[in-house]
Amino acid sequence: MSHVADNLKSTRERIQQLSLGAGRAANDVCLIAVSKTRSLAEVEQAISAGQTVFGENTVQDALTKIPQLNNPVLEWHFIGHLQSKKSKQVAENFQWIHTVDSLKLAQKLSAAMQQHNPNNILNCLLQVNVSGEASKSGLSRDETIFLLSDLVELNLPNLAWRGLMTIGVQGDEAETRKAFSDLRKLRDECRDKFNMEDFDQLSMGMSGDYDLAIEEGATMVRIGTDLFGQRK
Ligand SMILES: *Cc1c(COP(=O)(O)O)cnc(C)c1O
Repeated sequence: MSHVADNLKSTRERIQQLSLGAGRAANDVCLIAVSKTRSLAEVEQAISAGQTVFGENTVQDALTKIPQLNNPVLEWHFIGHLQSKKSKQVAENFQWIHTVDSLKLAQKLSAAMQQHNPNNILNCLLQVNVSGEASKSGLSRDETIFLLSDLVELNLPNLAWRGLMTIGVQGDEAETRKAFSDLRKLRDECRDKFNMEDFDQLSMGMSGDYDLAIEEGATMVRIGTDLFGQRK
């Protein structure tokens, strides 16, 4: 077995154990293999080991892999900050984006989908900075509710609003757990307020904190280092 296959196996097992331990179903949590900075060969190793869901954080890096693999079974998640001028590339290559944080970006993504990928839906998450750290991008709680209320009213074609994403607080377990728990409450509040049954996703947890995230209700964890090793 390749190194990546080994890591995938143990990470999947750990995710299942944590899910069961949190009183959830073993397959409740989707593992997104974060392949940013990794080579095409490394991604192919993961695919050989059965992985189909991948995350990339820049368009430039993603375009060295997605068109080359050209595999409709794969599901690609955009997890980085996106400049709206690159909406076309996301619309053409990704099925999910986790980092919507403005009306302008949502409008550009919808227009790009209508023009370049009109028969498909782009699944969207709003990026939230629940802990309020100044250094981090993302919406506050109130901004999230305001933006979502505009989005629901506009009903932009070819976009589906599916939930919330956040990044944990570096090196602080208690703060990270609180951020994850707050994100879950905010998702529930949005789902109820806007009566959106499909607003059910919580993207939270990376290599260093996905255990906490699963305990707090993550539906997707974004893991790079634990699968592919340290990034250079
Ligand atoms: C890089 C990255 C990850 C993966 O981080 P690891 O610590 O390598 O698991 C997850 N989410 C986002 C948004 C990232 O940029």
